[in-house]
Amino acid sequence: MACHFCDSLHDVELIEEGQTAYCNTCGSILYANKPQSLERAFAFGLTGVLFLLGMLFLPFITMEAQGNNLTTSAGETVIRLWLTGGPIISVAVAIFIFILPFFQLASLIYLCLPLLSGRAFPGMVPVTKLMQGLQSWVMVEVFFLGTLVSLLKLIKLADITLGLGFWSMVGLMLSLAAAVGGIDKLELWDRIEVAYRRRKTPDVSVEGGVEC
Ligand SMILES: [Zn+2]
Repeated sequence: MACHFCDSLHDVELIEEGQTAYCNTCGSILYANKPQSLERAFAFGLTGVLFLLGMLFLPFITMEAQGNNLTTSAGETVIRLWLTGGPIISVAVAIFIFILPFFQLASLIYLCLPLLSGRAFPGMVPVTKLMQGLQSWVMVEVFFLGTLVSLLKLIKLADITLGLGFWSMVGLMLSLAAAVGGIDKLELWDRIEVAYRRRKTPDVSVEGGVEC
């Protein structure tokens, strides 16, 4: 493989769990075999889905001003945006904040579940490409920052109480980062390759790759 930073070429060698391979020329990380990476990615993937559901359906914020009280969830906000003349923003929020993160987490769970026992599910290659491609389009962090800026403005006009939906969004953001960052790209591809080879030759023990 080529180093991403200096283009030096290296032979990819087996490394033990917990070890990291560095570039001989510039010292940057080439690939890593993170300890219990599949278990961690799977656990954070599931946690992320639960936080996503919490963010959708639990009260996000409660606003109180001049005797009026309004509690809304993030899911309701999308519907309200659609109904009050903001269909493009509504669709963008639904896609980038709910649908794509869900697909990313679901792909990760679909990949990690069989790989935990060294098995392969059909279509793992396109699912891995989908998961890695979605990384640039998941914008929960952008939504979080946007929410903070809006809250700073709203706090002058009304009493704001943050609900469980808001904290679910924080949890989702952290779970997504931990789930996707928990497993090295090269390690994931390698584990898929080993699982497919094992499926094709079930009686032969396969060696090679960044095995756990
Ligand atoms: Zn290098």
